[in-house]
Amino acid sequence: MADQIPDQIPSMAALEPKSKVQDYNYPPKPLAKLDADIRVTYTGVCATDHHMIDNDWGFSRYPLVPGHEVVGRVIGIGPDVKGLEVGDIVGLGALAQACGECEYCIEGIDNLCLKRKFTYFENTIDETGEHVHHGGFSAYLRTDSRYLFKIPEGYEEKYVGPLMCGGLTVAAPLYEFAGQSWDLKGKRVGIVGIGGLGHMAIQFAEKMGAETYAVSRGTSKRKFCKALGVSGFIDSSSSADMSAIAGKLHYLLFCVSGGSIDINHYVGLMRPYGVLHFVGVPDKVENFNLMPLIFSRLTLSSSPIGASNQMRAMLEFAAKNDIKPIIEEFTHTTANEALQKVRDGSIRFRAVLKNDLI
Ligand SMILES: [Zn+2]
Ligand SMILES: [Zn+2]
Repeated sequence: MADQIPDQIPSMAALEPKSKVQDYNYPPKPLAKLDADIRVTYTGVCATDHHMIDNDWGFSRYPLVPGHEVVGRVIGIGPDVKGLEVGDIVGLGALAQACGECEYCIEGIDNLCLKRKFTYFENTIDETGEHVHHGGFSAYLRTDSRYLFKIPEGYEEKYVGPLMCGGLTVAAPLYEFAGQSWDLKGKRVGIVGIGGLGHMAIQFAEKMGAETYAVSRGTSKRKFCKALGVSGFIDSSSSADMSAIAGKLHYLLFCVSGGSIDINHYVGLMRPYGVLHFVGVPDKVENFNLMPLIFSRLTLSSSPIGASNQMRAMLEFAAKNDIKPIIEEFTHTTANEALQKVRDGSIRFRAVLKNDLI
């Protein structure tokens, strides 16, 4: 019998702020013309998930079904869906919808659309009305097919989730820095923070041909980074390491979330016209002073996720170059264990849940 979306979708949801996720069933929204139904196979756990469960940013709503690093199989499609068929393996990231009509969407920066809808923060809108959209801690999802991305053949499903948010987040700014290409030959790129985002950023920068440097406090991650293929490892607490690379980097990608950061500590590493780019969100920025940035003609920039066209390009590039996140596997029903390890920072390096709800 063909798989079908059930009348009640089993999921794991937080029912109130700071609670554990628990069994929760909800009915699917009515099928819109452009919707597709998927059976979730895996979903990644992003730091955003625990911040949202805890209502750290003040806009969570409950019951909250987290998960925006989803991979699944298409089991049904609405009448107007194009380019997807039942049986396709697809990914869903942090963006569930954008308007498709505004200046930004037409320019191909739909991730910045003012009407964008994040996967489990907001309501999606279609001809059947406005509906709460849940995340990948569900067994099934019914969602706008235009934000489902086909996964290149042969790329293992369990690795897809972390690419859908974390992978895109680090790849998109590198791709933009390379002039919307994957060619960073001749460029020296530093990656600050070797965790869930940073270990993927190193792989992307390396495969793009950049001379890649890992920047980390202490030397505990030196061996690991060398194994990932970096050209150099910079212990940011060593003045000898820092001065050895002074004035050399074209680009420095900050992948650290939480904690406090002293941006000026890194300014000396940059070449003139260098770019310091933030994808991680520190809790606090300390000792910030514009003067050294001005005197070296540096740019400070930041970005959230990436656009749909960058998602397609990223998935293809990752599959072709065998870029894979390092994952720890859990299941939907053991999601609380995964969330705990993401919370306390002991996860190496991305948690992935296998759907065992059905
Ligand atoms: Zn995320
Ligand atoms: Zn738009």
